[in-house]
Amino acid sequence: MAKQKILVTGGSGFIGSHLCDFLLGKGNDVVCVDNFFTGTKSNVEHLLENDSFELLEHDIIEPLEMEVEQIYNLACPASPVHYQENPVKTVKTSVMGMINMLDLAQSSNARILQASTSEVYGDPEVHPQPETYNGNVNPLGPRACYDEGKRVAETLMMDYHRENQVDIRIARIFNTYGPKMAQDDGRVVSNFIIQALTGKDLTIYGDGKQTRSFCYVSDMVLGLYEMMNQNNIGPINLGNPHEITVGDLATEIIELSDSISQVIFKELPEDDPKQRQPDISLARELLGWAPQVSLKEGMSLTVKYFREVLGK
Ligand code: NAD
Ligand code: UDP
Repeated sequence: MAKQKILVTGGSGFIGSHLCDFLLGKGNDVVCVDNFFTGTKSNVEHLLENDSFELLEHDIIEPLEMEVEQIYNLACPASPVHYQENPVKTVKTSVMGMINMLDLAQSSNARILQASTSEVYGDPEVHPQPETYNGNVNPLGPRACYDEGKRVAETLMMDYHRENQVDIRIARIFNTYGPKMAQDDGRVVSNFIIQALTGKDLTIYGDGKQTRSFCYVSDMVLGLYEMMNQNNIGPINLGNPHEITVGDLATEIIELSDSISQVIFKELPEDDPKQRQPDISLARELLGWAPQVSLKEGMSLTVKYFREVLGK
């Protein structure tokens, strides 16, 4: 594929930094835009010497002008702990940020991919979740700033597409994990691994019977790339359909990290989805994509990463 100039918003975050590596590896010019709310410069430090890479500190709730050919809009805190820290700002990032990035796509005639989320399905009553399911989101609860923000972002994508012919891609990302998750990220995989490696009790929220389906980050990056470069606007679910309870995940991580830690039970956060598993039939059919990295393999690589970071 010919070299392109690609903007990655949220490019110094967890998924974004892996995506920047991948796109540069394909010979593209990459501009990474981030306000460093949850992302860090250290995630992309190794790229700063690369002439094809540019790092720009910018908040996407402010307009941005540049000429690019593709935009991956990943800017948005993804962990409940962080997106609930300043919920109004989270809504602004999803809504005003989306409008700004769509205006940029329109003015520079770029294709834009939105990192949407399985949270658009809320606490789902349909299982596994296909793209046709409209979801069960509580618009009043503490998760709504993220869920509803992302839902409006999808609406904006569709309206700019219908009204202004902007070339869009909507990817609905399910729980993704791997190296470069921040130590204070607060999501379950990094929490459990850090607790296991430091001999602390693993904090299971609720009874641990709720399920999630975890996708390794390299699989997700490939899925996003396929989505961007193929001809379907979506929405398309991207995730690993291997479903596991949070309790079983704790056991698995304790084993994989040879830990002496025990588990303790804490209060379940409000509106915490009880079950989640992507139906990825569309991704398989339309993109020829499916995850390749097993949970054991991916968790081992992530444990190895945190061992290095923590010196354990
Ligand atoms: P992350 O928090 O590590 O990365 C988000 C990045 O966006 C950070 O670098 C942060 O500093 C930046 N950012 C936040 N607000 C911004 C703003 N207003 N302007 C500019 N930059 C801003 O999270 P992640 O896990 O890498 O998630 C990336 C994207 O994928 C997010 O949009 C998230 O909603 C989506 N997503 C992630 C998952 C997952 O499991 N990781 C699941 C579903 C959707
Ligand atoms: N969770 C947990 N212990 C933790 C962090 C999270 O038991 O230390 C639970 C959380 O309540 C949820 C699941 O793990 O049921 C996944 O949480 P995460 O924040 O990673 O992602 P999300 O809820 O957004 O899918």
